[in-house]
Amino acid sequence: MNIVLPEKFYFKGASRENFARVENGYLVIRGTVPFKKMMYDLAYKISGTTKCFYCGKTISKGKLTLDHMYPLDLGGPTIPDNMVPACSKCNSEKSNMTCAQYKEFHLIRDHKERRILKRNVNEYHETMRRKRIYELPKNWVTDIALSTVIVELFFKEKFKGTKYNNIKRFYENYGFLQKPIIVNKNHYLFNGFTEIVFAREIGLQKVPAIVLDNVKVIL
Ligand SMILES: [Zn+2]
Repeated sequence: MNIVLPEKFYFKGASRENFARVENGYLVIRGTVPFKKMMYDLAYKISGTTKCFYCGKTISKGKLTLDHMYPLDLGGPTIPDNMVPACSKCNSEKSNMTCAQYKEFHLIRDHKERRILKRNVNEYHETMRRKRIYELPKNWVTDIALSTVIVELFFKEKFKGTKYNNIKRFYENYGFLQKPIIVNKNHYLFNGFTEIVFAREIGLQKVPAIVLDNVKVIL
């Protein structure tokens, strides 16, 4: 997929040699930059507004948050296409709901009914997990061969902490990875390092991935 990009964008990395910018419709990364932080910066730049996507209220700049429209819980990636400006009230209220579920939530005023809806939301998530489905647009996720993923660093042991254990537990329960990894066309890995460590460990052949076609890396 191609992520939405502004015409101009510059992101500073740790030193002058490490930066990213938009060049001829591509996001070109030189060296290494913190990917998630850069995606947040991009999303802020693209939204170009300080109005909450959900309630429409104008938010003062320091209080603006970004919400994952497709919730993290259902595999929602941190890419500008999935992020909208939101006030902290809406962001925390929406929590792990999908946009459709949150809309429904707003139509209900009764506390008891809202509680029931939230329970249904959790049951729905559980059903999705059991079916091994990400609640994401179909064209966002593709399976790629694990052996083709380019990982820059590989200090296996260091990454066996809480995150690793959570991935492992989720896999043991549901038989798939909770979220797709994020790579570019050459399968250079941007996000999902611990998932890769785990996938290698258990000998997976393929991993679900969101392939960003318009992001280039120059090392
Ligand atoms: Zn709001």
